[in-house]
Amino acid sequence: MSKIILSGVKPTGRPHIGNYFGAMKQFVDLQNSEPEAIKYFFVADYHALNLIQNAEEMRQHSRDIVLDFLAIGLDPNKSIIFKQSDILEHTELCWIFDAITTVPYLKRAHAYKDAVAKGGEEIINVGTFNYPMLMAADILLYDTDLVPVGKDQKQHVEFARDTAEKFNRVFDSETFKLPEPYILPNVEIVPGTDGQKMSKSYKNTIPLFADDEEIEKIVMGIVTDSTGEKPQNVYNIHKIILSANNASDVVQDKLQKIYEENKGKYKNLKEILIEDLKNFIRPLREKRAELAKDEELVNNILKVGREKAGPVATEKMKQIKKAIGVI
Ligand code: AMP
Repeated sequence: MSKIILSGVKPTGRPHIGNYFGAMKQFVDLQNSEPEAIKYFFVADYHALNLIQNAEEMRQHSRDIVLDFLAIGLDPNKSIIFKQSDILEHTELCWIFDAITTVPYLKRAHAYKDAVAKGGEEIINVGTFNYPMLMAADILLYDTDLVPVGKDQKQHVEFARDTAEKFNRVFDSETFKLPEPYILPNVEIVPGTDGQKMSKSYKNTIPLFADDEEIEKIVMGIVTDSTGEKPQNVYNIHKIILSANNASDVVQDKLQKIYEENKGKYKNLKEILIEDLKNFIRPLREKRAELAKDEELVNNILKVGREKAGPVATEKMKQIKKAIGVI
């Protein structure tokens, strides 16, 4: 049996370097290092619906994320790229999982607790509450072995494992495989410009396809403390950027030299980071702009993805429906 690798990204606007280094780069690396594996990378549009409730924005962001996937190196000849809403079995399976899951169990989810802490339970929609069950369906529908994600999604993969075990137990079957998260320790939480986890909701992101002017403005605005020799927030981002194209010992040597030579000179250090960011982002941005010229590209790729993922989901769903006794 081939190994199955699967992950998704919500189309909620421009991805940032936290999404890239925390998860999306691993999609590409695994795609290329695991030629025998079957790889699924999907646009998690039904997950995004909890946040994006405007048809035009949803359409645009969903198209954009496919271009982002291609620009970073996902290849539709090697990976199956599809849209979650194209495969009806995702939501169908989510409903089945809902029937075997309790409310207190879902209340343990960090994402739910964070949402309660921010705005109170009354404003949380049922979709946000139920998010882990749709994610369990996404993963388990394809007999996934490995889920490349950032650390913030680790608990959701554990929920998928629990749900697989529970289903197998309740329906006395071996319907589902238990998936494993794939999280790289040194990038499991990519910090933002203020040192907290990089996240759109904290407004501390560096967009993955930022233009030069934007990069300058963002880096000059990185929060630095006025004491100490090393601006930690600049250093942390610098370390991650250099790791894109260098081995870790090379990164360490380069950084040591730069931060030694510019001890206490925060402006110089920010300027060096700006150059390194520009050099890292420019080729990705240019490739993306080139791809965007082809108006039909995204539709064609999603059509092929739907044709490949659809039959797998349909077949699995038959097995699930037999296990629960509806067929
Ligand atoms: P999302 O936008 O929630 O669909 O996130 C896409 C992927 O990026 C998920 O696997 C997240 O875990 C990952 N991710 C998001 N922010 C970060 C971050 N600051 N550090 C590491 N991974 C992240």
